[in-house]
Amino acid sequence: MINFRRAMPPPKKLQERSFEGVKNCLIEMQANKCYMCERKAPDSSQIEHFIPVSKGSEELKFSWENLFLACGHCNSIKNHVSDRQDPALSILNCTDYSTIITDAIHFQCEGKPRERVIIKSASENPTKQVLDTIKLLDQIFNYNSESLAFDAKVLTDEVIQEMKKLLDLLHTYEFNSHSISKKEGIKNDIKDALSVESPFTAFKIWYIKRYFSNSEFDDLLPIFEIN
Ligand SMILES: [Zn+2]
Repeated sequence: MINFRRAMPPPKKLQERSFEGVKNCLIEMQANKCYMCERKAPDSSQIEHFIPVSKGSEELKFSWENLFLACGHCNSIKNHVSDRQDPALSILNCTDYSTIITDAIHFQCEGKPRERVIIKSASENPTKQVLDTIKLLDQIFNYNSESLAFDAKVLTDEVIQEMKKLLDLLHTYEFNSHSISKKEGIKNDIKDALSVESPFTAFKIWYIKRYFSNSEFDDLLPIFEIN
C-alpha cells in the first residue's frame, strides 16, 4: 500500500448517481493498481467503498472520496476481517497524506521461494489506524485458512516474483563490468521498477531502504510529501 492523490474534480456522472466512467478514473488515479495489495491491473478489479455503504448513509455509495480500485481478493479479505474479526477495523486512507504509509509501515519481502511476507509497524508507537492497516495487509498476504488462503498464496507469489525481478536488476547493476551508458540504462530500469506505477512498490521501497540506504538508489525512490 502506498499513498496517491485523489484525482479532482470527481467524475461528473457520480452527481447523477451513476458509476459510468468511474472505474476508468480510478484506474488512472491509482496507476491501475489495487490500493491495498498494489497488484497491477488485477483481472478482478472492482470499485470498492472504503467505508462500506451498509455502515453509512446512501450518500457514501456515490461519494468520490469513498471510492477506490481494489482487487477481488483484497475486497473479500477486507469484508471478511471487518465482518467476522474486527467490526471496528479502521484502516489508513491512502489518499490522506497526513500519514505516509511507507514511512509508517514496514513491508518486507526478499524474493525467496516460499517466503512469507512481513508487514509490521515502522515506529514504536503506532496509531490504531496503522495497527489495523497492518492487520488487514497481513491477512491479505498471509491468510491461511479457508478458500481465501489459495488467493493469498497466489498474491504472495506475485510479490516474490516482482522482488526477484528487482534483485536481478540490482545484481546486474552491481556485478557486471558494463560501460557507463549501459550502467545508466540499468539504473533507469531500476527507477522504473521502483516507481509508483510498478506493482508492489511498498515492498521495493523497503528493500532499498534496508539494504541500500545512502546509496545512489535513494534518488530513484518515489517521494511522498506529507501535507
Ligand atoms: Zn489487492
